[in-house]
Amino acid sequence: MDVPVYKEDQLTGGYNQHCYVYDLEGKPCKRCGKTIIKDEISSRKTFYCDRCQS
Ligand SMILES: [Zn+2]
Repeated sequence: MDVPVYKEDQLTGGYNQHCYVYDLEGKPCKRCGKTIIKDEISSRKTFYCDRCQS
């Protein structure tokens, strides 16, 4: 399923930052406060934080 796991995802320790910021387009990143960006790759939505991603 496509359940966002960013909040409960303690075990995986941020293996997937797309999950971490999932569905937060235009909202501040929970880690650094930078605005989340949405991307669509092959019709698959991807959310990411510019700062944390790099
Ligand atoms: Zn961030």
